[in-house]
Amino acid sequence: MLVDLRDSAKRRVGRVEIDASQRPPLVRVPRPDAPAAEVFLQWDQALDDAGCLRHCVACGGRLYRSRTLPQVTPIVVVLAAAGAVIAALGFAANPWVYAALVAVLVLDILVLALARARLVCYRCGSRFDRLPVARYHRRWDSRDAATETAAAHSSESASV
Ligand SMILES: [Zn+2]
Repeated sequence: MLVDLRDSAKRRVGRVEIDASQRPPLVRVPRPDAPAAEVFLQWDQALDDAGCLRHCVACGGRLYRSRTLPQVTPIVVVLAAAGAVIAALGFAANPWVYAALVAVLVLDILVLALARARLVCYRCGSRFDRLPVARYHRRWDSRDAATETAAAHSSESASV
């Protein structure tokens, strides 16, 4: 899986490829302007029976499901809006306009097909990409975010 690691203060550490089946306890994260950062990972209970990530390996926090959209997404949205306006104005009878609308629709479907699910940590904000995502992970939820932030603060104050 590809991990965009962040520290407990949500500062970005860097991006690193991690083989979850190897469960490396320590990863070196290459950084462009500094020596590689060493990050310890917590694999205890982190993977479920199916090998899916259960919680964040950087901080142990809960994860929510998110989607990565391809770079072309904003362009497609603009094109789709333009297509809707054209159709509403009644130009869709023109065969060229019709062909263009169909092309936008195909592009739209491609974008949705290419969107991948990824997991994001509530607590530290680390992102986990290119991995199997279990069905029990839900989308971002304000209540979950609040309880996770509260849990992070209480564990921080307990360790001080
Ligand atoms: Zn985390």
